[in-house]
Amino acid sequence: MHFKFCPACGGALSAAAGPHHPQRCTSCGAEHFRDSKPCAGALVVRHGRVLLARRAIEPFKGCWDIPGGFLNEGEHPEDGARREIHEETGLRVRLGGCLGIYMDRYGGSDTAKWTLNIYYFAEPLDDTTPRAADDASELAWFAPDKLPPKMAFKHEDQVLADWRARVSSQ
Ligand SMILES: [Zn+2]
Repeated sequence: MHFKFCPACGGALSAAAGPHHPQRCTSCGAEHFRDSKPCAGALVVRHGRVLLARRAIEPFKGCWDIPGGFLNEGEHPEDGARREIHEETGLRVRLGGCLGIYMDRYGGSDTAKWTLNIYYFAEPLDDTTPRAADDASELAWFAPDKLPPKMAFKHEDQVLADWRARVSSQ
């Protein structure tokens, strides 16, 4: 993501010299490195079906989404994934291994910020019925062969394809 002004002093920032170069402040000289926002989520599975949430907010309002979200400063991705699952579904989960890491942009445009998305396997700690929070209109369990045809964020289609491949190879 490109900024116009220096977060340290408010001075104007130069354009980056290239895709892997920082933007330099023309006033204080500080260098601002551009990076991807870290996110964590989990495939919460009960009786072989995965829990998905229908988004009640933009971007991609109305589309199905894997529970997860942005990490807080200093937060371990495992803690972030458990926190987001609890906030979005009310469930307490035990995490299994990591499914993988997926790059994407937050939104449909070519200028939307990059995200680095870490996904875990997870199972609920008890039989609590999941309850949607404000940012979801609906929660539902999906069998591997009955997944939504298109997910909110592009990388989520790949996440679910990888999950389905893992499940079918077991
Ligand atoms: Zn500055």
